[in-house]
Amino acid sequence: MSAASPFDLSGRRALVTGSSRGLGFAMAKALAGAGASVILNARDSVALGAAAADLAEAGAEVSAVAFDVTSPDSVGGAIAHIEAEIGPIDILINNAGIQIRGPLETYSHDNFENMLSTHVVSTFSVSQAVAKHMLVRGKGKIINICSILTDHARPTAAPYGAAKAAIANLTRGMAADWAPRGLHINAIAPGYFKTELNKALIADAAFDGWVRQRTPMGRWGEVEELGPAAIFLASDASSFVNGHILYVDGAFTAVV
Ligand code: NDP
Repeated sequence: MSAASPFDLSGRRALVTGSSRGLGFAMAKALAGAGASVILNARDSVALGAAAADLAEAGAEVSAVAFDVTSPDSVGGAIAHIEAEIGPIDILINNAGIQIRGPLETYSHDNFENMLSTHVVSTFSVSQAVAKHMLVRGKGKIINICSILTDHARPTAAPYGAAKAAIANLTRGMAADWAPRGLHINAIAPGYFKTELNKALIADAAFDGWVRQRTPMGRWGEVEELGPAAIFLASDASSFVNGHILYVDGAFTAVV
């Protein structure tokens, strides 16, 4: 890619949480392809190491830092380590996530708290730890991950939707506080993509048929199709885009 391109990420460093597989790995790979050095994260250090080796083999400049995004102490230690030992974080993607489906009337408090902790509290604590450094530098790109369930509901997924809706307004709040100080904070809301998180849905023929019928483009998203959106929001190409939620959903949310 030409150095003059606004999409060029040469010389930038990106941390992508939850990037040992799925959408996080695909976005990290895309950022690396645009020239960024990338830091992968997940809890399982074995899977994380394998993912980092994959990217390194493809020519990426890659590091791996295992930590649990739900632990504020681990987050604080990891971000301090990255900033001091690896280098400044220019781009943060808060991608780590889980799904625990179940009927709302029997959904446990522990599971509900886990959903909020993994999605919402982590987006706050990782962003705060990274933003402290970005604010001193007067620049930085933060990308949060929402969902089509940010604005819509599905049976058995209310806790997930509540968490994703909170992330949407946390994104706007971060822009309110930090855009005046040089940071860009946006979100991506993916439609249905074929990843580990959705393996039960992919295996369910009725659900698979519903996704294909309900999505105007007639199919699931491929993980590689999320990367370019991440490059856009991580790069100078989005220099006046702030507090925005970018849907990458095959027109799912455009129609009823
Ligand atoms: P996957 O289950 O494929 O990957 C999740 C990743 O997050 C793994 O690397 C996992 O590694 C990591 N992770 C989970 N919990 C933690 C934690 N506490 N700390 C650190 N890392 C963690 O999920 P997807 O790729 O499908 O989803 C990624 C994001 O995209 C999530 O936020 C999800 O809600 C969102 N999303 C996904 C959609 C889809 O269709 N797939 C649609 C809309 C949004 P490990 O378990 O080792 O920690």
